Order: sequence, then C-alpha cells, then structure tokens
Amino acid sequence: MAILRDSSTIAVADGTATVHGWVQDTRNLGGISFVTLRDRYGTIQITLPKKKIEPALFEQLTKLPRESVVAVTGEVKESKQTSLGLELIPTFCQVFSTAASPLPIGVIDKVNVEMDTRLNSRFMDLRKPEIRAIFELRDIAVALISEAMRSEHFINVATPKIAATGAEGGATLFKVDYFGKPAFLAQSPQLYKQMLMSTGLDRVYEIGPAFRAEHSNTVRHVTEFTSFDGEFCWIDREEDVMTMIGKVINYVLAGLKERGAKQLALLGKDIRVPELPYPVLTYSECLKMVQDAGLPLKEGDDLGTDGEKIVGEIMGKKGIELYFIAEYPEEAKPFYIMVKDGTPYSYSFDLDFKGQEISSGGQREHRYDVLVARMHKKGLDPADFEDYLAAFKYGMPPHGGWGIGIDRFIEKLLDLPNVREAILFPRDLNRLRP
Ligand code: ATP
Repeated sequence: MAILRDSSTIAVADGTATVHGWVQDTRNLGGISFVTLRDRYGTIQITLPKKKIEPALFEQLTKLPRESVVAVTGEVKESKQTSLGLELIPTFCQVFSTAASPLPIGVIDKVNVEMDTRLNSRFMDLRKPEIRAIFELRDIAVALISEAMRSEHFINVATPKIAATGAEGGATLFKVDYFGKPAFLAQSPQLYKQMLMSTGLDRVYEIGPAFRAEHSNTVRHVTEFTSFDGEFCWIDREEDVMTMIGKVINYVLAGLKERGAKQLALLGKDIRVPELPYPVLTYSECLKMVQDAGLPLKEGDDLGTDGEKIVGEIMGKKGIELYFIAEYPEEAKPFYIMVKDGTPYSYSFDLDFKGQEISSGGQREHRYDVLVARMHKKGLDPADFEDYLAAFKYGMPPHGGWGIGIDRFIEKLLDLPNVREAILFPRDLNRLRP
C-alpha cells in the first residue's frame, strides 16, 4: 500500500499504515528501540517494544545502517512524545536498499561541513530538510514567475542554447565543436528574444540555462546559471521595463511568503514585499557613494562586487533591499542597449538586491543603422551578427527587457553566503562534478 502524506497527516487504513523512507536514526534502549524514518515531508517514529515485536523483525529494523531505504507496515498509534503525534508499531519491513557506511557526510549531525565537501556529496546534502527547502522555494518562485508573466500576456519561449555567435562578449564564451564547425554555448537568450520582437510575439519570457566561461572564482559567479529573461515591445523608455520587473518580483515575493511559509519558517527567514516603485539611483550617484567610501573607481568603470556592496550597505541602512541603478555609461553596457543621443549615458539599469546585482536590462536599440554603428564602436563585426541584424532591417518595434539570475535572486532572498547554495549541482572554474 503506497501512502502519500503531507507534513501533518498520514493515510491510515484500519489502524495500519505503510510508510516509506530513509532510516535516519536508530536508538536502542534495551527493552525498547526507536527507528526514525524520514521522507520528503518529515519523520515518523517506528517504536519497537522488544517483547511485542517478532525477534527477526526487531533484529532487522534495529540493525539497519543509517540512510537505508525501507517500507515499514505497522499499527499506527497516537503518541504525545513524537512531533507527528503518531508512532508506528511495525509488523513488516521491506528493505529496498541497505546504505553503506560510513556515510560521506552526515544528514543529522550538527557539525559544520565545508560547502565544497557538501557539494561533493550533494545527493546526501539534499537529504537535509533545510537544504531541500531552498529548492522547494526556488520551485515556487519559478511557478510564480510564470503566473506573473502570463497575467501580463507574455508567452514562454525556448531559444537555442547552442549558437553561432555570442551575445555578451567574447571573454566568457564556451566554445564547442559542432560537427567540425565552431559554435558557442548561449551566454543569454538576448539576440533571439530581440529577434522575436520583430515577429508580432511582442511579449516573451524564458527561464533557461545560460553559460559563461567565468574565469574568476567568486561567490556570485558560476559557469552555468538559470536566467529569467523578459522582452517586450512598444515601450517608451527603460522605465517601462523597470515597472514590469517591480510588478513581477513583488508578485513572486508575496506569493513566496504565502506558499513558501513552511520552508521559510524552517530556514528562519521572513520576506519583505517592498513598496512599488522600487527606488532608482543613477550610476553617477552610486559612483560618488563608492568613491566617497574610498574605492578608486572612475567614470565608466563597472561598480563591481565591492562597489555594489557599498551601495547596498547605504541603502540597507534606509531599509531598502531592492533598488535600480540606472543611466549607466554606454561603455559599461553591451552594444544592444540604446544610448541617450548626445550623451555618454544609456537607457539601461541594473537591479540590485541587498548589495548585489541580480538583473540588468534596459531599452534596446531598435534602429538598424544606429545598431550597426554601435557594433562598430564596440569593435564588433556586423557580419558576425547577420541573422540578428536581419530582424532589424524589415520593421522592428521599440522594445526593452531584462535578464534576472534566478540563482542570485534565491541566494539574496534567503541570505545564502554563496550563489552555489541555490544551485543543485553548481558548475564553476574548479567544479565539473558531480
Ligand atoms: P556581473 O557583473 O555580476 O558579472 P553581468 O553584468 O555579467 O554580471 P548580465 O550579463 O547583466 O550580468 O546578466 C544578467 C544577470 O544574469 C545578472 O544580473 C546575474 O543575475 C545573472 N548572471 C550573469 N552572469 C552570471 C554568473 N556567471 N553566475 C551567476 N549569475 C549570473
């Protein structure tokens, strides 16, 4: 009999039930023994009063190594001593898998284990409810994003992840051998989602993998991340894009608070849904804050990890966690961003969350001639972007959009110390396994 239960109920028929799970712990107290069985939803106590249990079954259950996988059938009894309020007195046990010992890492041990060691045995690390909670919340966030985007009439698209050209600069391209021809793993869906703007599919979004050959080992960079991209037509300015992001993120935050309450409680986290619109700082204002704090940055420089942190601390003191940094200089942004005519600034922005960039976006250059001129200025050869440029030649509406790193969003949301904590099997400069 398969039993499906949530956190507080267990299906019981005629006073008996079968529960499946991992043997988390066994305690032998002479006349009585206890086995704690764990599944996705929690634990249940299997109680074995020695005199009332068949000796072979007693022996089988109490000798099982930790983390073995079993199904136990027995009589369900109320029990005030257990967190579930129930215990199971077993009559039958089926062992599906006996765990080897010692375990690579413990599941319930309180000792601090380095992240790298945990990631090496990620399957075991994920048996901890507080680690699984991160990914349950991530799942809820992704569902909420789709709901929010659909309600704004965006359609979900899937763009190629193997491409002939990169979109975000040559330094972070992963080259692959495509039947003898050079190809690249997609750094973002940028070029394709923009091409779609010329088709009449005027609002699109994608949640998919992005690959960047990041050579630096930081807590915020990995080589494979999940990007939530949106792009839409008929905008007047980048403010329209910022308004859309604010709406979507607030929907996600409010939804997480409600649907993820159990997981948030387990992690001891609360979510604040900020007021709309999110504050907008200019790049120049931020540069000044950062310079005043002693960082030797000059106009045009990326604020970088340290600069973003300084701005985050200043905003944090005002109780602000999410804010835009707008009007970046043209040189700090890619070729496809629209530039304010006659100024060095662009219609671009980053969205920062607790002192870390989680998104960048803006209004795109939709005028063919200007776009080609921008490519030349950036030292790019328009011939390398032939397919992309073709979509701009025959009628392209004004448009804009964004890319949000889902991993970084979850990292900052839950105050995790490293983006890798929000990724099941992270990939970085030093990690290709498991
Ligand atoms: P950074 O300056 O932090 O390296 P970026 O400017 O290269 O980021 P964008 O190209 O603007 O990033 O990408 C949009 C978003 O995608 C980022 O705000 C971030 O959330 C996510 N992202 C980009 N690169 C990475 C990465 N290597 N690892 C994790 N997330 C990333």
